[in-house]
Amino acid sequence: MPDMKKAVVIGAGIAGLITARMLSDYYEEVCIIERDELPAEPLNRQGVPQSFHPHRVLPRGGLILEHYFPGYNDELITLGAIPSEKEKIVIANRYGTLVNKADAASPFNIASCSRALLEWVLRQRVQNIDHVSFLTSTEVTGLMVSEDQRSITGVFTKERGPDQPIEMLAADMVIDASGRSSKLIRWLDKIGLSVPEPEVLKVSLGYSTRYYNIPFSIQHEWGTVITESDPEEGIRAGMLWRIENDIAGVLLFNAGGNEYPSTDPDEFQKQIKQLFASDEISALTDQLEPLQGPRGYRISESVRQHFELMEHWPSGLLVLGDSFCSFDPIHGQGMTVAAIEAETIGKCLEAQRVHPEPQFERQVLLRMQQEIEPAWWLSSVADLRWQGVEHVGTSQLKGVSFAQKYINLFVKQAMKRSSQENHNHLFFMQFLMNALILPPSEFFKGDVLNMILNDNGSEEEMELRAELGVEDPGLFQQRIDEIIPSFQLEPDARINKILDSLRLAMSK
Ligand SMILES: Cc1cc2nc3c(=O)[nH]c(=O)nc-3n(C[C@H](O)[C@H](O)[C@H](O)COP(=O)(O)OP(=O)(O)OC[C@H]3O[C@@H](n4cnc5c(N)ncnc54)[C@H](O)[C@@H]3O)c2cc1C
Repeated sequence: MPDMKKAVVIGAGIAGLITARMLSDYYEEVCIIERDELPAEPLNRQGVPQSFHPHRVLPRGGLILEHYFPGYNDELITLGAIPSEKEKIVIANRYGTLVNKADAASPFNIASCSRALLEWVLRQRVQNIDHVSFLTSTEVTGLMVSEDQRSITGVFTKERGPDQPIEMLAADMVIDASGRSSKLIRWLDKIGLSVPEPEVLKVSLGYSTRYYNIPFSIQHEWGTVITESDPEEGIRAGMLWRIENDIAGVLLFNAGGNEYPSTDPDEFQKQIKQLFASDEISALTDQLEPLQGPRGYRISESVRQHFELMEHWPSGLLVLGDSFCSFDPIHGQGMTVAAIEAETIGKCLEAQRVHPEPQFERQVLLRMQQEIEPAWWLSSVADLRWQGVEHVGTSQLKGVSFAQKYINLFVKQAMKRSSQENHNHLFFMQFLMNALILPPSEFFKGDVLNMILNDNGSEEEMELRAELGVEDPGLFQQRIDEIIPSFQLEPDARINKILDSLRLAMSK
């Protein structure tokens, strides 16, 4: 039963919607303030310019969304989204090409759809909650603060349009979910609070996405193609996938600011041919009917704020989603991380009910940081392979060079075992790590570690051993525990169940 009074959420993007749903368990009244007018149908809107591009939910995000929005995935499928089970998946990288049938027994069935459809389905659910209201076409312009400056007491708002007055909206809790364009730092500055320097990954990434109509005649041959990048060779990543309404998308990506993927249709087609598995993608795209030209998206930085380091973080204020930490979208983490953060806030609110703690909000920020560490670290490790990408900030990123070499060798072994021995457990393990289910520390342990460090004297193995700086195999694990971050994550029964089945499969 809700027992706290009023919460305000800034922004009705994915983070805002999950948060409002979560808060509805604890607050008598929840109000989402959104600067856009919200469309009655699944349509892209101005406030989320990224929505044109593919938006995948990772399995960890899927678990959390099912918890807050039971049956949302089935609802998406009913509306035309493509179920992932039984779909053919082609994965290509520098070590070869693998064709996989998604495992029907897999615990994950994440529907593939447009961001607009996903957002619309979640929004409808939130709109149906009695004590959640939406204030649309209204922008938050600042934070109301108590006289002693220690608590946020609400927000200043302004209806969009000329000459609208500034209004005040009181709340016991304000949660900023206003995305990459958040003004939170400016608002905090206005009330006399300066924030620590964030961690920044200067990533200079480029996307180019093009959509096609899938003719009826080739629908049965369909599959998803994921082609990984090879930054050392300057080879881009690409993806070909299917969404509702018989539409297919092709995405090209690279980081490092060197030669962004093209938005010229002919050049785009040529660049498809430079990908791994270009034959598979070209064979399909040649039969598709383009809906329009490719459209680009560029991001100069991924930013991770460290508000938890502030001595005087005000009570009554929290932040999540892209305004707390934004990611390189190629890893598909943003919405899942927003879900993890919302769930973390929910767990903290639950605990606060039973044992109220002082400095609650700062503790929540700290817990959220711990929970998002795997996502930040994994995407940084991957992005730093591109020349020109740089990490800056006072916090250190541990183990990057070692992890890059280790993951490379892992992928090589996984490809070899999958193609020669029809043994997909290694791929599944890497998939679970990238899905934010398997903690990365598990990837650098025990049997996996022994296998990776015993690659029959290959060049990669030698490089890896040199990076470890020890010869005695008895010291490998100890040395790795020093190199790789320890990742302090809260135990989660759903995740433990999945990991138990992975361990069982690997032991066979
Ligand atoms: C090209 C691209 C592709 C991506 N692909 C994926 C993917 O495959 N998988 C994935 O998980 N993530 C992906 N992401 C990331 C994903 O879009 C975000 O991480 C996710 O939507 C969570 O963002 P958010 O809710 O914090 O912000 P947003 O979704 O950007 O929403 C912010 C909302 O706040 C509103 N707003 C802003 N300022 C104000 C204000 N002052 N007052 C009121 N309202 C305001 C905006 O109008 C908007 O509705 C991608 C991002 C990009 C750029």
